[in-house]
Amino acid sequence: MSQLRLVNVMEEIVSGLVRYFLRSVEYQTFCNCEECELNIVANVLNNLPTYYVVSLNAREEAFNELKDSRNIENINKEIIRAIHAVGKRRGHVE
Ligand SMILES: [Zn+2]
Repeated sequence: MSQLRLVNVMEEIVSGLVRYFLRSVEYQTFCNCEECELNIVANVLNNLPTYYVVSLNAREEAFNELKDSRNIENINKEIIRAIHAVGKRRGHVE
């Protein structure tokens, strides 16, 4: 029962990391509402290569490849840049 689904593994990794960053102590002053979170994820993804796969096995492999520490360091750097570029202060009003 192989289930085919188009997944951008980079998107999954970045979404998880952005969520984590915005809830960490260091980024307390930044808003973590859904809109801000998605804006930051979009900004990061526009600056990183996509990594599409269509099967669970390939997804697993891609995850392992992308979770390489040098890669994560690079992704983290992009996330921090994006938080400062498009993140808003907590409690912002539209
Ligand atoms: Zn917000």
